[in-house]
Amino acid sequence: MLAEKLKTLTRDFVGVIYPNLCVVCNGHLLHAETGFCIACEQELPRSYDELNPENNPLIRTFWGRIPVRAAGAAFVFSASGKVQELVHNLKYNGRKDAGIAAGQLYGSVLRDISPFLTADMVLPVPLHESKLASRGYNQAACFGRGLADAMGIPMYENVLMRVKATTSQTRKNREQRWDNVGEVFGVRIKKRVEGKHIILVDDVVTTGATIEACALPLLGVPGTTVSIVSLAAARQ
Ligand SMILES: [Zn+2]
Repeated sequence: MLAEKLKTLTRDFVGVIYPNLCVVCNGHLLHAETGFCIACEQELPRSYDELNPENNPLIRTFWGRIPVRAAGAAFVFSASGKVQELVHNLKYNGRKDAGIAAGQLYGSVLRDISPFLTADMVLPVPLHESKLASRGYNQAACFGRGLADAMGIPMYENVLMRVKATTSQTRKNREQRWDNVGEVFGVRIKKRVEGKHIILVDDVVTTGATIEACALPLLGVPGTTVSIVSLAAARQ
């Protein structure tokens, strides 16, 4: 009896801190709903990129740039609509649960699809330090956390790091036409990724420049292969 009362109290208290609201429309969730209300879950435009390697717009983004083993976006990004609302909640309304719920939803699809099912780990694109300070969390890591949990593999946030571009690197980059990237990443713990199949994740992929910059040092480690997964991808 007392235990039941305590349970109810705890649930109500948690409910005050994290109100049970849809991660897209912010409407109250019904008992059976988690993360997404049924209407939003049905209306979100699924990309189905992961199912069609022959005609996969996300992989095409990286053709001629980096070798990608597989790629998938959970949703098609557009400037307005449900996906925009979801991303807005995740990035600007402090709703980490929006990323986690989307990651769990997509991870439960990818865990049964080859070659994603052979992946060893999830690595999120590191957020810029100043952004991390103002937002307080990395939204790509929220999505990565849900994805990794649903797929039953680890996520590491300390493997990829942003490095400051030196003058010589900037010059080298320009020669190699990466100047527009403006970002350079490094691998902190090479042993951890050696010979591994890595899922690189970001929240929204548009030009793919940041993903490319993250993949380059990973692909320099012997035997490492890279797949790419995003919460949303724009159609080029
Ligand atoms: Zn909703």
